[in-house]
Amino acid sequence: MDKLEMLWAYMQEDIAADRIDAEIKRSPLRQKLEKTRDFILEQQKIYKDMDERVSISLDRKDAIVDALKRSEEQLRTMQDRLKSDPPQDAESAHAFLQEIEKNRKTISGYEQELRHIHKEGNEFDSKSRNIRHDTAVAKQDFDRMKAVYNTEAKEKKIKYDAQRSKADSLMHEIDPDLLSIYNTVKKQITPPIAKLVDGQCSGCNTSQPSAALRKIESGAIVECETCGRILMN
Ligand SMILES: [Zn+2]
Repeated sequence: MDKLEMLWAYMQEDIAADRIDAEIKRSPLRQKLEKTRDFILEQQKIYKDMDERVSISLDRKDAIVDALKRSEEQLRTMQDRLKSDPPQDAESAHAFLQEIEKNRKTISGYEQELRHIHKEGNEFDSKSRNIRHDTAVAKQDFDRMKAVYNTEAKEKKIKYDAQRSKADSLMHEIDPDLLSIYNTVKKQITPPIAKLVDGQCSGCNTSQPSAALRKIESGAIVECETCGRILMN
């Protein structure tokens, strides 16, 4: 057997193994499992993002509570001053009231922000309860499906492993450079080898130039210019 014939024999077993692998991947149960896994990962990400946002808000809350205390203290001082040392004329009374008003606005702004953080916290609590619940249900589904899938896949996996090792035993006999060409071509097109039929590539039915035919005749490795397959007689 020449080296291309050996490669051709390997290709038959290699492609048979690929076919079983594709069958395994196409299993509806497997696809459902993958979808459930993606859902769980997505929920975990949403939860993490929410948790980060809330923890930033909680830091902000501490800062606001401190600032609020300071503003209230300031307001009390001003009110005390109003009693002990009331403004003597209209202009200073006006300025004083403005200052108090400004302080009240600041306090009300802080209070509003605190209410917002509180609301956000409550929303997070209820959303995170839902997420935890949905994720727990999805995990149960996943485990149940996985158990069924494992039984289903076990048989196919045994078939696949047997076919793959049959292919591997032939692969070890193949010239490494030729194998590397084969693998490169296979990434682009499969099956990666095509026989010549009446001077045409049987993969894409393109007539090959006579120079190419002569090269193939002499045992050189030639790829079809149209489809890229390795050509053989
Ligand atoms: Zn071709």
